[in-house]
Amino acid sequence: MDYSQFFSAALSRLHEERRYRVFADLERIAGRFPHATWHSPSGSRNVVIWCSNDYLGMGQHPKVVGAMVETATRVGTGAGGTRNIAGTHHPLVQLEAELADLHGKDAALLFTSGYVSNQTGIATLAKLIPNCLILSDALNHNSMIEGVRQAGCERQIFRHSDVAHLEELLRAAGPDRPKLIACESLYSMDGDVAPLAKICDLAERYGAMTYVDEVHAVGMYGPRGGGIAERDGVMHRIDVLEGTLAKAFGCLGGYIAASADIIDAVRSYAPGFIFTTALPPAICSAATAAIRHLKTSNWERERHQDRSARVKAILTGAGLPVMSSDTHIVPLFVGDPERCKRACDILLEEHGIYIQPINYPTVAKGTERLRITPSPYHDDGLIDQLAEALLQVWERLDLPLNEKSLAAE
Ligand SMILES: *Cc1c(COP(=O)(O)O)cnc(C)c1O
Repeated sequence: MDYSQFFSAALSRLHEERRYRVFADLERIAGRFPHATWHSPSGSRNVVIWCSNDYLGMGQHPKVVGAMVETATRVGTGAGGTRNIAGTHHPLVQLEAELADLHGKDAALLFTSGYVSNQTGIATLAKLIPNCLILSDALNHNSMIEGVRQAGCERQIFRHSDVAHLEELLRAAGPDRPKLIACESLYSMDGDVAPLAKICDLAERYGAMTYVDEVHAVGMYGPRGGGIAERDGVMHRIDVLEGTLAKAFGCLGGYIAASADIIDAVRSYAPGFIFTTALPPAICSAATAAIRHLKTSNWERERHQDRSARVKAILTGAGLPVMSSDTHIVPLFVGDPERCKRACDILLEEHGIYIQPINYPTVAKGTERLRITPSPYHDDGLIDQLAEALLQVWERLDLPLNEKSLAAE
């Protein structure tokens, strides 16, 4: 049997559908973010990153880098085992306390990644609730969908952020059925925010539990970086908050924060927690440093919002099709997978600008886009260069521009 043909055929399908992915070989330069070196096929070049999820540049912050180096030097690299065997090390315990405090919860539990925290967290919670019905937002991230699937219980999908539809499903399920509502607070492809207060109202009225993914909001929203739930004053009304240390906190790892019993139960039952090695101490110390810094420093959050607003204004003013977004995310509509990919290739090769194309299955077909994520470190000059480069690419690929806005600058 020729097994390799199965794999080459699978790859051919991706090429035919124009959704074969190519990664750029990049090397960030600490202290000079968003500048990076691109190890291109024809040699190394300086480029500017415009699509990083290290939203606040905390991955290069001296306090964060310093904590990582200091801890690694003091205690070594790996955790030495699963939490049960050898892995509940002190920096991890400190980090969990920091996260519980950030979200105003009794406790927090750390996982290898945000992906794992959703997957094993949701599955474990739902399995521990007899006859659980999961109500899941239609645009939830793949890690939540996988968690819901692994839960093995009944699930219903409500239309994206549609509280009327959610209420319909809650009412139909009846007051006695245990129900778990799962959604994100900030959807990162469109940059829209979930109506968390209304979802909490419904959860309370119909007796449902709530699980909210704050991955794209922690560190960036709320007076201490607790996320959209903190900003909106509903943190205490949400049962389980999930977040990542890999985006605004600039490190790696995921977590849930909740009541002591919920955390203890997931700690005791979740396979994705139990059977894997704990995060390294140095990563935990670095994440703790980032969280602590962002609990008191508003500079990054304010500058981040300011930069996003400026990018939106300049690109919109230039007639580029910026999609409406309530947050720091700046999606730019292309609507065609091939030209989306091509636009990114030209930006990188000819303008030294790195933006990853967002194609199906990350977004629906026909809504392909560039997803731009300005950071506190993208200055006015870089923004002007971005606008100029995009205009050239739009012209070259014959992509439509809007009427020039009079509000330009
Ligand atoms: C990135 C992401 C995750 C996964 O977090 P990682 O820490 O990168 O594994 C979970 N949920 C959403 C909505 C995400 O965008």
